[in-house]
Amino acid sequence: MKTRPTRANEAQQICALCERRVRQTSKHHLIPRSEGGREVVNLCAPCHKTLHQFYSNRTLLNELHTIERLRAEPEIARYLEWVRKQPDRAIKVHRRRERK
Ligand SMILES: [Zn+2]
Ligand SMILES: [Zn+2]
Repeated sequence: MKTRPTRANEAQQICALCERRVRQTSKHHLIPRSEGGREVVNLCAPCHKTLHQFYSNRTLLNELHTIERLRAEPEIARYLEWVRKQPDRAIKVHRRRERK
C-alpha cells in the first residue's frame, strides 16, 4: 500500500459502521441520551440517515444498540455492501415507506 501525504482537506474521519474514510461524521447515540445512553459512535451521513430512516428510535434502542447488532441486520448488511463501493460524496438515501 502506498502512503500519500496528508492534506488538510482530506477525508480523515472514519465511520463506525461502514468504515469508510469520509470528510465528516456525526455522532449517533447507540442508546438515546433520554434513556441514559452514553455510548456514541461517529457515523457518516448516509449511514446515519439510513439508520434513522430504516428504524424507529424504539427499535434502535431495544434491538440495535451495538454496532455488531446493526451489522448483523440483513437490511443494514445489504446497505453496507453497497455503500462501501461509494465514494465520499453526497449519497442519496431512498426513503422507505414505513419504519420498523
Ligand atoms: Zn458510514
Ligand atoms: Zn443517530
